[in-house]
Amino acid sequence: MGSTSFGIPEHRFGSNGEKMPVLGFGTAVFPPVRAEATKMAILQSIKLGYRHFDTAAKYGSEQPLGEAIQEALSIGLIQSRDELFITTKLWCGDAHGDLVVPALKRSLQNLKLEYLDLFLIHWPVSCKPGTYEFPIKEENFLPMDFNSIWAAMEECQRLNLTKSIGVSNFSCKKLTDILAIANIPPAVNQVEMNPMWQQKKLREFCRANGIFLTAYSPLGANGTFWGSDRVLECEVLKEIAKAKGKTAAQVSLRWIYEQGVGVIVKSFNGERMKQNLGIFDWSLDEDELKKIDELPQSRGVTGVAYTSKYGPFRTVEDIWDGEM
Ligand code: NAP
Repeated sequence: MGSTSFGIPEHRFGSNGEKMPVLGFGTAVFPPVRAEATKMAILQSIKLGYRHFDTAAKYGSEQPLGEAIQEALSIGLIQSRDELFITTKLWCGDAHGDLVVPALKRSLQNLKLEYLDLFLIHWPVSCKPGTYEFPIKEENFLPMDFNSIWAAMEECQRLNLTKSIGVSNFSCKKLTDILAIANIPPAVNQVEMNPMWQQKKLREFCRANGIFLTAYSPLGANGTFWGSDRVLECEVLKEIAKAKGKTAAQVSLRWIYEQGVGVIVKSFNGERMKQNLGIFDWSLDEDELKKIDELPQSRGVTGVAYTSKYGPFRTVEDIWDGEM
């Protein structure tokens, strides 16, 4: 594994050997902040060494990310856009065969970029063409037509609008469906994962099928409507952190990295941004790994999303096929 000039290991994938820094910077913010605050946080993170950025058409952070990249180039923080790894995602309202390429072109315009590094299907459900509401109204739900959508995702890669394509929030069953029809298999599946929701079965499946798993909400998304403090306040993680002179957040991020999984973490606070980068020069020992392995499991983010008033989907089964 190579690494960035700031020492973040890089995962290589795809036939062209694309390099993805295994630690990425999240840009989904709750409660919402001004675009300028997002731009400033991203600029600060580039100064600190983050090179991988995760956005989505739905987050409202594509434009501030694009502006931050332009400014980073103009003040010399980076010499070329190629030094960055940029991911964005297709929203459910654009998850229709004929809308995928135009949606990606719109995202590229927002980002002021000519190409993406990674384009993901955000959720494995569709809604009425062109609707961007959240939560999605019951009457606007539509089943996702994997055949036409994945063909359009592949077209995005063939047109060089993105270097790689992948999915997000896909279960083993839904990945199996995609793999059965894919000419270009998904490079990445981005899902909720942290010590309290370890995704063991999905990890095995992805490893066996050459799909790189990437963890979102690695700290349990504390402070957002979709998250809680159950990772940061976990006694086992706090004890390990104390013994190692680290924080529970660092223990969680390090544990994910040691599972061979990528991490997308969001902090707009300078000290915490630095803290989250400090996970590559130490390791967890066997006993600590065992304690984490034995933590009781429960779905966090996605569980909350389905049951709260913000829930974008009808049932957990819409996404996870009833799997734990
Ligand atoms: P997260 O990264 O687990 O947690 C973010 C929260 O933790 C923020 O409130 C942040 O506050 C706080 N935090 C960050 N570092 C900390 C530290 N060292 N100590 C204590 N608190 C800390 O959750 P997330 O934002 O849900 O996930 C990360 C990214 O994944 C998102 O931003 C988004 O890009 C992506 N994501 C994708 C999906 C999907 O469906 N594909 C879903 C959810 C998220 P401060 O900013 O104040 O530090």
